[in-house]
Amino acid sequence: MKLLEYQAKELFDQYGLATPKGVVLSSGEGAAEAVAAAGLDYPVVVKAQVQVGGRGKAGGVRFAQNPEELAEIVGALLFSSLKGIQVRQLLVVEKVEMAAEWYLSILLDRDAGMPMVIFSPCGGVDIEETARENPGAILKVPVNPLVGVADYTVQYLVSKSGIGGEHLPALKNLLCGLYRLFTQRDCLLAEINPVAVGKDGTLAAVDGKIDVDDSALQRHADLLAMREAHSEPPLVTQARAFRFLYIPVGAEGRVAVMSNGSGMLMSMIDLLSKKEISVACALDLGGGATKDRIREAVRIVLSTPGVDTLFICIFGGITRCDEVAEGVRLALEEGSGGSKVVVRMEGTNKEVGQEIIGRTPQAVSAGGIVEGVRIVSEMLSASAGRRDAK
Ligand code: GDP
Ligand code: MN
Repeated sequence: MKLLEYQAKELFDQYGLATPKGVVLSSGEGAAEAVAAAGLDYPVVVKAQVQVGGRGKAGGVRFAQNPEELAEIVGALLFSSLKGIQVRQLLVVEKVEMAAEWYLSILLDRDAGMPMVIFSPCGGVDIEETARENPGAILKVPVNPLVGVADYTVQYLVSKSGIGGEHLPALKNLLCGLYRLFTQRDCLLAEINPVAVGKDGTLAAVDGKIDVDDSALQRHADLLAMREAHSEPPLVTQARAFRFLYIPVGAEGRVAVMSNGSGMLMSMIDLLSKKEISVACALDLGGGATKDRIREAVRIVLSTPGVDTLFICIFGGITRCDEVAEGVRLALEEGSGGSKVVVRMEGTNKEVGQEIIGRTPQAVSAGGIVEGVRIVSEMLSASAGRRDAK
């Protein structure tokens, strides 16, 4: 799970890493008052809280000299769209004076089998360019998890980067704090870019990115709670409540696909695409295809705007096809506005399942995935024909 910048900074605070003073806004009303109440001094930086890289270059990081400019920027940025994602929160922070911008991160290096520290004295918005054009300016050093960050780790970074020995204590402090956060919070990535280097040599985290291992989230209730603030499509959130993965595929299309495995979903999408049928969304059921779960899943995908045709492939040895069919029947019975469902299933009690589908008015059984695609295609042209005739 990737955290938003302000959430990453909350963790930096917990681990004693300096961050500029700030406040989060989720409404345009009273922005100047909120900034004053938080005790911030101008100039301030207004930052869109969205999970996209290069916010600065896309116009998502702006500077305000006074309350009037702040109001103007907040009005323009809040609820606007940045690289296709709606901005629902802004972080306003005091602007930091920087003598230099460094890059510092720790990531889980699976090849090395240990955490890897990455450091560059040329940080900031052009770090990708530095990586391409001047890879020598980016240093990597692994950290043996049994030893932790050692003096020689920091010494290596300081001498190789040429930042000057006077920075050693502050860099060591920053790196040790970031490493404790990285290990204790089960991170895959903990990144500070830029590290603001003040004229007096103090270091502060001006931007933060944290990616927490999803498999470790049950150990961190506070991080799990942070997910609520993420701007994801409501159907994705609804689906997750049942441990389904809802994947928006295309902005347009009348067809949704559902299965109990991502490989099968990809095959379904590929075969439909070959017939020039666009898929609006896909739902991965994961394990446990009981009738109640299937019913919820069908309800969720069919509430996708524009979707009126659902193609289901359930493939499993011990999955009971009568449960699957019963779930489909229940969902359609509860009201689905004339939507059609094509079901291909394989498993225990397949005949009973097909019999249930056979007496469900809006559902059809398919003997195989290719046959299912053909039925979907015919359904779409038939209803398009009806529309044209009207
Ligand atoms: P990003 O574009 O998403 O990485 O957003 P950042 O928070 O890293 O901001 C982008 C760039 O804006 C930084 O690399 C800085 O050059 C500049 N910037 C952001 N905050 C400050 C600040 O407080 N003071 C100064 N001087 N520059 C800032
Ligand atoms: Mn940044």
